[in-house]
Amino acid sequence: MPDELLDRLRRFQRDDFPLRRSHFRMLVDDGQHPTTLFIGCSDSRLVPYLLTGTGPGELFLVRNVGAFVPPYDGSAGFHGTAAAIEFAVLNLQVSRIVVCGHSHCGGIRALYGEVPAAALNLRQWLELGREAVLPVAEPGPEVLRRTEQRAVVLQLERLMDYPMVRPLVEARRLSLHGWHYVIEDGEVHVFDILRGGFVPASQADNAGTGPYRPHEPDELSGLLDGSGVPAGP
Ligand SMILES: [Zn+2]
Repeated sequence: MPDELLDRLRRFQRDDFPLRRSHFRMLVDDGQHPTTLFIGCSDSRLVPYLLTGTGPGELFLVRNVGAFVPPYDGSAGFHGTAAAIEFAVLNLQVSRIVVCGHSHCGGIRALYGEVPAAALNLRQWLELGREAVLPVAEPGPEVLRRTEQRAVVLQLERLMDYPMVRPLVEARRLSLHGWHYVIEDGEVHVFDILRGGFVPASQADNAGTGPYRPHEPDELSGLLDGSGVPAGP
């Protein structure tokens, strides 16, 4: 039986790698110095390198269902996403953190539906988006889009609870960026806290919320009750 995956591995090493050999050699000799931590949903249609025009060595990636950030609770469990955040900020000293959700997100949709009983870890993980859910029984496309965007804002708030993140953000040495990628348009909508919502990149004057302005309690409640997040396209 032909093994297509094996064929692809061989093709990369034979055809593609030689064109990039010197670049990878440099990344090995000098080490990696990515400036951006990209926290994205695992969805196969979200391709961070395409969106940002980046290549090897430029993005430190962590991906999970929903692009969620677990709370910093000091429990020192097997928290892969939290470990990646710590490594990116403390070791790599990135200057940007992007949280990127997207349209038609199965993780967000699952918040309104049933999760298979056997998916114990998924069920628990999805709770990290629960606060973004809107009080409707049958979510239509508009509700789902608003939920996806609200979930991104929630994760930015959680990032600010990481003790190695907040001081750097407040010192303006680290910026946080909330993105919502609309797959069918090929456009990222960036969260702009000054404009109080998500703005298509084609109309934005920055790449997201940075520099982050620590929220006022009223401001956050406005965002999370939906009144601060304008309707998407
Ligand atoms: Zn997703």
